[in-house]
Amino acid sequence: MSQGKSSAGEGSGPGERRSSGGRGHGRPNSGRRGSSPNRPDGDRDRSPRQRTAQRPAERARDADPARRAAFDTLRTVADSDAYANLTLPPMLRQRGVRGRDAAFATELAYGTLRYRDRYDAVIATVSSRPLAQLDPPVLDVLRLGAHQVLAMRVPDHAAVSATVGLARSTVGAGAAQFVNAILRQVTQRPLEEWLEIIGSEITDETERLALTSSHPAWIVRALRHALTETSQGAEDLPALLEADNTAPAVTVVLRPGLSTDEDVPDAAPGQWTRTARLLAHGDPAALDAVRNSRAGVQDEGSQLVTLAAAAAPLDGSDSSWLDLCAGPGGKAALFGALLAERAPGGRLLANEISAHRARLVEQSTAALREVLPGLEVRTGDGREVGPEHAGRAGPAGGFDRVLVDVPCTGLGALRRRPEARWRRTPTDLATLGPLQRELLTAALAATRPGGVVAYVTCSPHVAETRMVVEDVLKRTEHAQVLDAVEVASQVSPTPLTGQYHQDGPYLQLWPHRHGTDAMFLALIRR
Ligand code: SAM
Repeated sequence: MSQGKSSAGEGSGPGERRSSGGRGHGRPNSGRRGSSPNRPDGDRDRSPRQRTAQRPAERARDADPARRAAFDTLRTVADSDAYANLTLPPMLRQRGVRGRDAAFATELAYGTLRYRDRYDAVIATVSSRPLAQLDPPVLDVLRLGAHQVLAMRVPDHAAVSATVGLARSTVGAGAAQFVNAILRQVTQRPLEEWLEIIGSEITDETERLALTSSHPAWIVRALRHALTETSQGAEDLPALLEADNTAPAVTVVLRPGLSTDEDVPDAAPGQWTRTARLLAHGDPAALDAVRNSRAGVQDEGSQLVTLAAAAAPLDGSDSSWLDLCAGPGGKAALFGALLAERAPGGRLLANEISAHRARLVEQSTAALREVLPGLEVRTGDGREVGPEHAGRAGPAGGFDRVLVDVPCTGLGALRRRPEARWRRTPTDLATLGPLQRELLTAALAATRPGGVVAYVTCSPHVAETRMVVEDVLKRTEHAQVLDAVEVASQVSPTPLTGQYHQDGPYLQLWPHRHGTDAMFLALIRR
């Protein structure tokens, strides 16, 4: 893929792609541009000599490290299919970008990724060129500028001049002129006016909401459906979409028996679990307890479903537990710590199909071994665990408690994975559906009579939640759905009633209601 610096120098026009074979990042320019009275034309008319006049040393001075890191993250996400949340933090550490600069880079990179389609629509309105013809790095610089102007508290002149500096040092002087002209146009109106403008030509309500909230339309439809299926109702949809665009609080889990409040100074208690602590500031990875796996970084919804999985009532023995899809091990570490509290001589089998992720489970559960010697990490297909272990795990054959946190679209954690919404497609549901059914079936097969299965997703999509559970239960004898809302209410310091009310038997958490990822939990007794 061409880099804009060379495209400016090679005379293909500022910010233009040289070939049509590159990956398109922008929305096609669908006629919105006509509404701008002053569309900048970039420096199309400048000579190549003028465009390359600036020396590399001058370019290097132009970009500040935070903006440069945000730009490099966007490029890595686009070029290597990388995850922003795995790319940016090590990059910042490596480059020595810390404190407020690191926070600025994070907000800039993640916010720009989340709002990509919204900004593309704004940029298309003022650009003389269809976005599909812009060189992707130039488009990324423009998006970064738009985010600073429209969503961050950066004064307009600083946002424009710093972004033009970034453009100069990354995509060349010619493209920088173009960026300057576009961003000056963007500063002419507040966000609210831009939202009206970009939404004004769209008659379909879902499509309009999708564009203005910067979500793919199929996800908006799926979320509306999921809200309608629970007692929250579709009127919550704008608030949910807004929550998806808001960075989550940093939440730490204190693994029982392994860490205490002293390990997480200046943290506030969580709302839904005894184990969660909310960090107002600071890097959780710098905490000793997190580094040595006595504590972990974990969404409070994930903690609540794990606590509920451990608390669901069962008959008989309660010391042989299974986590069927354990990687990277956040829930396994908490599940195991809860088992150690209840039965220190108990056994937890943490299974994961991917060898790399099984190693992450080993790391997440390193401290757990001290309190739970009966911990075993297995690398393998969860669909084989039931038959392999039936008759040898628990006294009555099979496991007492099984957690099956299936691979899913992750539509409930969009705020945490800024680029995920643009990568997922409805076809993923078709691929994941059969696997989810098979894994739940295997979990039920691995459970002894009287034992309990907890089926968990970090997606509220009904095709991954209740439809999977109900399909599998139609084909399963001796399976009874427990009220997960009631069980979760018993372990939560805050009742899941009142303004948080929802009907059982399934538990569906929501970012805009609970401040958690949209975790789903079904509890099934054999
Ligand atoms: N419970 C984990 C945690 O809290 O850290 C997250 C689990 S993640 C949603 C689903 C996991 O299932 C992924 O690590 C994926 O590699 C794994 N997986 C996918 N197919 C599997 C299979 N057939 N058997 C076992 N694990 C599988």
